[in-house]
Amino acid sequence: MDGSPPSSNSSTTADSAELHGDALDARLDEIITAQRKCFNAGRTLSRDAREESLRALLHAFETKEKLIMDALHADLKKSSAEAYLTEIGFTTAEIKHTLRHLGRWMKPKHSMSPLAFAPSRSGVHYQPLGLNLIIAPWNYPVQLAFAPLVGALAAGNVAVIKPSELAPASSAICAEIAREAFDEERVAVLEGGVQVSQALLARAWDHIFFTGGTSIGRIVARAGAEHLSRVTLELGGKSPCIVTASADLDVAARRIVFGKFTNTGQTCVAPDYLLVESSVHDALISRLRAAITDFYGSDPKASPDLGRIINERHYLRILGLIDPDKVAVGGEHDADQRYIAPTLMTDVTMDDKVMAEEIFGPVLPILRIDSIDEAIATVAQRPNPLALYLFTTNKQDERKVVERVSFGGGCINNAIVHLGDPNVPFGGVGASGQGAYHGHHSFEIFSHRKGVMKTGTFLDPSVKYPPFEGKLGMLRKLIG
Ligand code: NAD
Repeated sequence: MDGSPPSSNSSTTADSAELHGDALDARLDEIITAQRKCFNAGRTLSRDAREESLRALLHAFETKEKLIMDALHADLKKSSAEAYLTEIGFTTAEIKHTLRHLGRWMKPKHSMSPLAFAPSRSGVHYQPLGLNLIIAPWNYPVQLAFAPLVGALAAGNVAVIKPSELAPASSAICAEIAREAFDEERVAVLEGGVQVSQALLARAWDHIFFTGGTSIGRIVARAGAEHLSRVTLELGGKSPCIVTASADLDVAARRIVFGKFTNTGQTCVAPDYLLVESSVHDALISRLRAAITDFYGSDPKASPDLGRIINERHYLRILGLIDPDKVAVGGEHDADQRYIAPTLMTDVTMDDKVMAEEIFGPVLPILRIDSIDEAIATVAQRPNPLALYLFTTNKQDERKVVERVSFGGGCINNAIVHLGDPNVPFGGVGASGQGAYHGHHSFEIFSHRKGVMKTGTFLDPSVKYPPFEGKLGMLRKLIG
């Protein structure tokens, strides 16, 4: 913000869902022209401007907390506590962390240049990328719209956010938050579905930050290639969870159940399937069953802490993955409420339907393994997962998995919580995405790291200039 309050016609386009064709194009022209002008004028560059934007966002989150909770309940039946934990608190913690460290992050990082370039010193300068398009999914519809924005603002950018049309109440509150906190020359939320997304992707952006499924990720990558935009892809996939015989089973069960059934399994980093050493298979299942009852009661449908499936298409898709003959726990469902009970499936093989795609729902298939090497080989047969979890007390197993398996990020003896630590980069690798964010990593992904060498003029040795005759020996000493 430049100190003036957002103008009355400013900011977001709650009505843009209705826009299409020429009207949509005209609206995009208007926003993009205003943002380009604002960025080119350097209004987002100073530390003060960045901090002011971040504080405005924080203020909007604090004052609209109840409205955000209501929206998340309307779309996903998230409890207030879960809404706070995974969306509101998550985002405000990210803003506060950024405000605490921004001054240090913005400073160029200097180093002495190699002797051959003496007398020189080099610096990495952080330059905002410019116009950013942030496309968000429906499962954490508020957090995944605004957590990337924190990095974009911290790095001195302007941004357009396209929330998911599949979480309409959350999309509307995202628009309202931005309307309150920003002029649209700085941040605009453009609501709408695939058509709006495609119209946005047809434009030239300096950076596209996309969170969503792998197939749409490919479309986004192609759109970015057209304009040579930087593209960050935060995708999904099947994230394995390995439990070895040495694991603390009580703790493992509770953490796995929490990681799996938070947001009713509709979490990109939820444990997708379990690989359990045969000797502890039955013991783990009985503890998982106990943890489900502890958390959600004997009738999970009545629990205020268990959400619902986002829409009928996903409800039917998830049900289609359940083989009733393999259900060990749960399996109950109710189409009217789009409710599916926390479900464990046993005796699952790689040929089962549930192992063919990302589940993204409250169904946990369990497969037996005989060794950590078998687990590693099983995971390696599939595309690189976004997350991996290992429950073990064996340090060798831990080292093997961390060293040998390629995955976005993960936990040892925990599940999903690594994404809450701003010190570690959060992102995928290969099929699960490219680029990572959170904390300082967000600042970096929304910045261009510009290398600049500065050379003193008091010394200009002639060894590096022609004629080179007789200088090769000296050059070898200086460079090699
Ligand atoms: P999605 O890919 O269907 O949609 C994401 C966004 O893309 C939405 O805003 C949507 O409007 C837009 N979109 C949809 N079709 C499009 C098209 N043809 N062209 C252009 N834009 C289009 O994803 P989703 O169903 O909303 O979310 C679920 C997926 O997202 C899962 O695979 C999950 O693992 C992944 N995800 C990843 C992360 C992460 O941080 N890595 C976080 C949440 C979800």
